[in-house]
Amino acid sequence: MEVRVRYAPSPTGNQHIGGVRTALINYLFARSQGGKFLLRLEDTDRTRYSDEYVKNLYDTFKWLGFYWDEGPDVGGPSAPYIQSERFALYKEHAEKLVSMGQAYYCFCAEDRLAKLHADAQDEEAGEGGSYGYDRRCRNVDPAEASRRLAAGEKAVIRLKIPLDGTTKFRDALLGDIEWKNADVSPDPVLLKSDGFPTYHLANIVDDHLMHITHVMRAQEWISSTPMHVIMYRAFGWTPPEFCHLPMVLGQDGSKLSKRHGATSLNEFRKNGYLPEALINYVAHLGCSYEEGREIFTLKELEGLFRVEKLNKASAVFDYTKLEWYNGQYIRMKTDAELAALVMPFLAAAGLVAAGSDGAPAPGPAQAAVVLGAMPLVKERLKFLTDAAPMMRYLFEEPALPAPEEFIPKKLDAARAAELLAAAAALLPSCDLADVPACEAAFRAEAERLGAKFGDLMMPLRVAATGSRVSPPLFESIHLVGLEKCLARIERARKLLVP
Ligand code: GLU
Repeated sequence: MEVRVRYAPSPTGNQHIGGVRTALINYLFARSQGGKFLLRLEDTDRTRYSDEYVKNLYDTFKWLGFYWDEGPDVGGPSAPYIQSERFALYKEHAEKLVSMGQAYYCFCAEDRLAKLHADAQDEEAGEGGSYGYDRRCRNVDPAEASRRLAAGEKAVIRLKIPLDGTTKFRDALLGDIEWKNADVSPDPVLLKSDGFPTYHLANIVDDHLMHITHVMRAQEWISSTPMHVIMYRAFGWTPPEFCHLPMVLGQDGSKLSKRHGATSLNEFRKNGYLPEALINYVAHLGCSYEEGREIFTLKELEGLFRVEKLNKASAVFDYTKLEWYNGQYIRMKTDAELAALVMPFLAAAGLVAAGSDGAPAPGPAQAAVVLGAMPLVKERLKFLTDAAPMMRYLFEEPALPAPEEFIPKKLDAARAAELLAAAAALLPSCDLADVPACEAAFRAEAERLGAKFGDLMMPLRVAATGSRVSPPLFESIHLVGLEKCLARIERARKLLVP
């Protein structure tokens, strides 16, 4: 039988790391089994819906670079399943359950239900206690129900939960699970009085109609599963297999949240993470692939994923490890790839030109500097966001540091100024494209001046780049241009000996 799984987000917020993880695990499982991965928008809750969240969902997939396999009309990324386009189907199914005697119309007024709900919360929903709804309409005669409906009375449809006994299901990770039916929410609503389905009904009907074989979702849904299984049986359907994924926690053991760091995909993007790093790291959250190896392409993960390799225990989100992955992937980029990746960050920082939409529009000279700088910064970047501060001196005059910044240890301002003057005198005779030759010339000059090589280089570095820590110096001077650098050196020298 073909494996068919789905990611079924409700577009009530921006995509976050938990959602990405659920989507990725489903995708990897489908691929590892030669099966299908579906995307289904569970947009039944119209009050919390926003187009912006749907756009964010699509953007996330586009950025991550993997897609769902089919939709209602065409395959591929253009058409996921959308529940709000399928409302008639859910109504039909709820009515079918009524006709099968598995569900019933409930005419109870909102205020009565609200009171029951409030009372139940007071009682703290004790062991085995039937809290919330008191099942008053469960025994309304079907003929009377039809009459009341025909008379225009408003009604919801509720599922009949068995009053006693237990419901069992198997979870691929957690094993056999058995719930007392008395502990299942008493007769949950399937169809609201406006004809809209609840999440539970739409979810089960769709999983059945879409031939979903495995439901892999966040652990928070496990308490809904007994009710879902009861609904499958009420329809006379076989439930899919379940696999509830362990929670993702922060380092302090509490559920991963904003307090721990970035959690929404937007933030990770904005903070300069690469999709490859995020995919590789998230795939490893509570799951192993191959001993002693950490970097995998998506294709490799697809082939290696096994449900048996998922941990039962919660996973801890380690930002430091993710940062490590990010650095690794940055170093794997070619110079041209990395230049294209950092360009939007440089444009946002105003270092290269941008079009009216904010997209980078560098001229040929700027593009050449960016490309030329890539070998200098590649080893140093942890995030794409590091590029702008690290490369600012290539495009703008650095702010003049305080005089002390130019002065090597044990020397004074006058000596630092002398060393700067010597560097300025030497530079024009150096071939800046030949770094070893430049270095040799500067070493010889340091010796001639009775100075340490490092002491000759340090003031020059601060003058040319604005900082004691910078990408490689001669390459930097080459990129900035000799004339500009000489002016920067002169500016610094004047600061030291006014
Ligand atoms: N719409 C639910 C969610 O937002 C789906 C749960 C499931 O996968 O069954 O997570």
